[in-house]
Amino acid sequence: MNQHTNKVAIIGGGITGLSIAFYLQQHAPHLDVTLIESSSCFGGKIASTHEQGFVIEGGPDSFLAQKKSALELCHTLGLDDQLIGSNTAKHPTYVWCNSKLHPMPEGMMLMAPTMVLPFLRSSLISWPGKIRMGLELFIPRSAPRQDESLAGFVRRRLGSELLDKIAAPLMAGIYAADPETLSLHSTFPMFPQMEQKYGGLLRSMIRQKFARKSPTAPAQPAKPRSTFITLRGGLQQLVDALFAQLKPASLLLDHRVTSVTPEGQQHRVTLADKRTLLVDHVVLATPAYVSASLLQTTDSTLAAHLRNIRYVSTATVSLAFKRADIHHPLDGLGFVVPFSENRGITACTWTSQKFPGRAPSDSVLIRVFIGGARAEHLAEQDEATLIELAQHELRVTMGIDAQPILARAYRWHKSTPQYNVGHRERVAEIDRILQLHPGLHLAGAAYHGAGIPDCIQSGVNVAQSILESLRSQPTASNTSLNAPQPVCVL
Ligand SMILES: Cc1cc2nc3c(=O)[nH]c(=O)nc-3n(C[C@H](O)[C@H](O)[C@H](O)COP(=O)(O)OP(=O)(O)OC[C@H]3O[C@@H](n4cnc5c(N)ncnc54)[C@H](O)[C@@H]3O)c2cc1C
Repeated sequence: MNQHTNKVAIIGGGITGLSIAFYLQQHAPHLDVTLIESSSCFGGKIASTHEQGFVIEGGPDSFLAQKKSALELCHTLGLDDQLIGSNTAKHPTYVWCNSKLHPMPEGMMLMAPTMVLPFLRSSLISWPGKIRMGLELFIPRSAPRQDESLAGFVRRRLGSELLDKIAAPLMAGIYAADPETLSLHSTFPMFPQMEQKYGGLLRSMIRQKFARKSPTAPAQPAKPRSTFITLRGGLQQLVDALFAQLKPASLLLDHRVTSVTPEGQQHRVTLADKRTLLVDHVVLATPAYVSASLLQTTDSTLAAHLRNIRYVSTATVSLAFKRADIHHPLDGLGFVVPFSENRGITACTWTSQKFPGRAPSDSVLIRVFIGGARAEHLAEQDEATLIELAQHELRVTMGIDAQPILARAYRWHKSTPQYNVGHRERVAEIDRILQLHPGLHLAGAAYHGAGIPDCIQSGVNVAQSILESLRSQPTASNTSLNAPQPVCVL
């Protein structure tokens, strides 16, 4: 009998593509998987370097501990002893406002205060701003909405000052986003749910506090020690560990895919050098606008929806200094900058305070963020200009006059997908159209979450769906699948 070996092509060797290849190899070792990456290295936005005793992250520096997929992947790869958590300082974050760094009030749950006294004592919010925030208790819940912008929601419930000084800069830090267009329902669905269920955020916080104090309340699960987790050698360690596990024959570097077209029940993947692969399943783990161009001839409607997911450019600059040259106490993890302050950076991380082992003991490492939805043009400048801008901003905000002993800039052109109002519906439509193309899959940051754990989970979900579809095929090749354990080890 002529056995058909099922073939899978994964396009894009960032953390999403690597995770898919790894899970498929683990659970279906005889499957013919090819991971195709256009650049000369795997990892995509993950880019850690080691220089002069510093660990510098050009892209992401950590992942959220709360979402388990990244931690589970590290565990499967035997990296448990390499995991490190962020410093759990009492005042982790500051806000640059009126020419001063103010501590973020303790107990903020993103944009909503969970503790009254620290909020009332805060120097960041004016008394009218505090009173306006307190009035949230008396604002009736709005009629349920399909979606609204984060800015619209915060302004409506908590007031403009809280939006400007806390919610917006935090969102700029997390999503590089403009809060006026950022979808509340795709990013923080718990907030409209709190409004609908309890009549408001403050009411919800009060109810939860009382519920926790009740003697019949179930024991709270132990809180994770740190919010953010990384690896001793930087996030590149995760990429390297995945790479080490993958069969070399399944990996293609420096190969750009130019199109994906259906051919009978299969898909033909064409590379820039005109070579082609005919595969049973193809996963596009590329940015949505790249996926759009690859699928243009296959389904122009799908391509149009993908192209409608906006991406914005960002940049990071890491500067290292001798500790003795910095007069600031660095008593936290860094600061965010409200847009209204009209500065050239959106946030600053005191990297060597956030994670141990990022700098030699006599030095500090500081990283600033530039660009995002409201200032993309700044991120598109050349590297020397970005470094100059970062130095200028640190002089103004932290009084750092010293010359850095090391300076590195990373430009991320059209790097960050924007979950704008209507995102959920747009992605639901993309998922619906995908059903019409069996064997075609999309994964990555553009759809159901943009953080590293979300990307890994989206990869696991796609791998699982490929394995399920292969298992349901009545072919001899099914014997090569490790059945019937679930692919998800999360
Ligand atoms: C500056 C910055 C800081 C961030 N900080 C954090 C953080 O601290 N924590 C966190 O959880 N997330 C963070 N993120 C988000 C996170 O890094 C990304 O969402 C995630 O790494 C995306 O992974 P991916 O594999 O889906 O995509 P990518 O990493 O973009 O990988 C896609 C790959 O596809 C390749 N490719 C593109 N076109 C083609 C083609 N035609 N053919 C073949 N290959 C192609 C690309 O070269 C790339 O390697 C940050 C992002 C940025 C930019």
